[in-house]
Amino acid sequence: ARIVDAAAGEDDAAVEAALRPRRLADFPGQTKVREQLGLVLEAARRRGAAPDHVLLSGPPGLGKTTLAMIVAAELEQPIRVTSGPAIQHAGDLASVLSSLAEGEVLFLDEIHRMSRAAEEMLYLAMEDFRVDVVVGKGPGATAIPLELPPFTVVGATTRAGLLPAPLRDRFGFTGHLDFYEDADLEVILARSARLLQVPAHEEGIAEIARRSRGTPRIANRLLRRVRDWAEVHGAGRVDLDAAGRALALFDVDEVGLDRLDRAVLDALCRRFAGGPVGLSTLAVAVGEETETVETVAEPYLVRQGYVSRTPRGRVATTAAWEHLGLAVPEGGQP
Ligand code: ATP
Repeated sequence: ARIVDAAAGEDDAAVEAALRPRRLADFPGQTKVREQLGLVLEAARRRGAAPDHVLLSGPPGLGKTTLAMIVAAELEQPIRVTSGPAIQHAGDLASVLSSLAEGEVLFLDEIHRMSRAAEEMLYLAMEDFRVDVVVGKGPGATAIPLELPPFTVVGATTRAGLLPAPLRDRFGFTGHLDFYEDADLEVILARSARLLQVPAHEEGIAEIARRSRGTPRIANRLLRRVRDWAEVHGAGRVDLDAAGRALALFDVDEVGLDRLDRAVLDALCRRFAGGPVGLSTLAVAVGEETETVETVAEPYLVRQGYVSRTPRGRVATTAAWEHLGLAVPEGGQP
């Protein structure tokens, strides 16, 4: 697993639970979504009714699960947590829905990965607070309608576009989470350092934030490695020196690229003179599967403007040459 992977690793779960902000007021960044969601929840609270269903979309590690838990906390309601892949049969969903208490929050992570039958059941339940429970099999099977108490669905997805329109339309509020500014990551990191009880200097925190790819999950992971370094080799505090050395040890460079990212840039510039070069050729050059290069390394390189995709292949941008400390070729690169 890469240290700069935005998806959760096995060792992230326990510490992440401890580092999640519990209330909206403690959730830094995502100002627009936070304010909009705050309004929706406060209005529902004043009316004494369940709010609209909430859909949160955006890349991994930006706080969708955290916000779902915050929704429940702000509504002072319990939360039931499940996910699309866990609900393969409509019956799985029926049993979750029929056991919800009034006002309860149902968090459905990776909602785009539910089966079609479950999706259909879900959007009817969200609209009418009713499920049809099928009893029996074959020609004798009958659907018994079951009334549900009002509840709130919080759905999370990395791909809102993959949700069928009828399901998407049942969400009265959709918030899209975007990558964080460094300043917000600094607030998150300072808070995490306090919770982890490790002293931290501003410059150390800023250095980690800069290398965290706009993603709180990565920021918190890097912080843990810097803390390790500081406790073993340093003065026990997260400062600029500890951050620089620990992140160098783990191959995370000044802008958050890791060894694979740099290998791709390096091959593109040095071996293929900046491209254009086909993805599979590039993958062979770095000794990786094409899919790994395409899904693991490339998205961030493209987003940061180091690589551009053209119809003739991948091309290194000026920023790529500069990042590798190489002279930008005359007149060629975008
Ligand atoms: P995934 O889609 O992979 O489940 P996610 O979007 O649900 O990711 P979370 O699990 O909510 O992300 O967040 C990952 C980690 O980042 C958690 O430890 C959480 O505490 C932290 N985090 C995310 N957003 C924030 C934030 N705004 N403030 C503080 N910590 C945050």
